[in-house]
Amino acid sequence: MEDFVALREGVRQLCERYPSHYWREKDRARAYPEEFVLAMTEAGYLAALIPEEYGGAGLGILEASIILEEINRSGGNAGQCHAQMYTMGTVLRHGSADQKKRWLPAIAEGSIRLQAFGVTEPGAGSDTTQIQTTARWDGRQYRVTGQKIFISRVQHSDFLLLLARTTPIAEVTRRSQGLSVFMVDLRRALSQGLTVTPVDTMMNHETNALYFDDVPVPAENLIGQEGNGFSYILDGMNAERILIAGECLGDGYFFIDRATQYARERIVFDRPIGQNQGIQFPLARAYAHLRAADLMRTQAARRFDRGEHAGEEANLAKLLASEASWEAANAAMQTHGGYGFAVEYDIERKFRETRLYQVAPISTNLILSYLGEHVLNLPRSF
Ligand SMILES: Cc1cc2nc3c(=O)[nH]c(=O)nc-3n(C[C@H](O)[C@H](O)[C@H](O)COP(=O)(O)OP(=O)(O)OC[C@H]3O[C@@H](n4cnc5c(N)ncnc54)[C@H](O)[C@@H]3O)c2cc1C
Repeated sequence: MEDFVALREGVRQLCERYPSHYWREKDRARAYPEEFVLAMTEAGYLAALIPEEYGGAGLGILEASIILEEINRSGGNAGQCHAQMYTMGTVLRHGSADQKKRWLPAIAEGSIRLQAFGVTEPGAGSDTTQIQTTARWDGRQYRVTGQKIFISRVQHSDFLLLLARTTPIAEVTRRSQGLSVFMVDLRRALSQGLTVTPVDTMMNHETNALYFDDVPVPAENLIGQEGNGFSYILDGMNAERILIAGECLGDGYFFIDRATQYARERIVFDRPIGQNQGIQFPLARAYAHLRAADLMRTQAARRFDRGEHAGEEANLAKLLASEASWEAANAAMQTHGGYGFAVEYDIERKFRETRLYQVAPISTNLILSYLGEHVLNLPRSF
């Protein structure tokens, strides 16, 4: 059963214009899929979550996650542009009326790209409250100094949503206090002390190390209240988990689609390989796990869209979907035999791409510890 038939069909038609060889070429050249991202922007899909009053489509998180699912199911990589959909959520939820008017319509039409999100640091890793990047008020403006790592799409973004410490950790009662969120104008920052160094990764996912050397950021670019940034970032995480779950599902269905087709057509020992239970069962099992994860994604999204607390379901959806997509990736690789490793079959590319979801934007262990502590009421493990 498929919901949102018209929405899915619209995304599929757009994605058909960017078939597998398009993505293969981008992967080979480590190039940004600019044409695809422009087409997605022009069609309004990347503005799905922006309310209509600001020029967006005003859709829910379920529809948005289906859009990303369909991109990945087509063989594309939604990770190249997904952040344009949701990074603006911090501005939408916590920005002033002026900030929303200033940025949201431009993000909706695509004249401003806000798809860079700067949280991770080499010294803090998953322990976000330990970040060392500081934003110091000099009486006129903030001045940012520090390092970030794995910050994606900076070269294809006009703004970066940055988390930095505004009050030293020694001066706050809880370490989650004293962190603030800023909209950093990247073009200005690049001429005022920001250095961007690309980090090569195993898939085509442009990501970077950032060095801030006393980079000025005007007060009007502080989002919400100084010191409350950590809670603003947390607010956006359930949405991100549900969207990423959609991408994982899309990858998983891609692997099942391709592998079942291959298993029907590939004849070895005078029979289609898919006739062998050794090939059939891993695919059937992976499919079962995908469908179960899909239900959890839908439940999480529906709760989120109704404004209910969705922390448990969003985390479950991301955990289950990322594991199901990886299981499907392995089954598809095995089904294809040697051809799974041949670039022209796309399995190895998607295999590399889908592996990321168990580490970023949050690693599986951190989700498990969330469930252990907040759902199962077990003692905090760290
Ligand atoms: C391609 C790519 C793109 C990315 N894009 C962005 C981006 O745009 N913006 C951004 O801010 N970040 C980005 N990241 C960073 C990503 O969010 C982090 O890599 C991720 O959160 C894990 O942090 P870490 O790499 O420092 O791992 P670490 O925190 O060093 O963890 C290493 C391993 O140890 C485990 N671990 C750590 N502590 C515990 C514990 N207490 N209990 C059990 N296990 C534990 C983790 O689960 C993980 O498996 C990106 C990463 C990659 C690889």
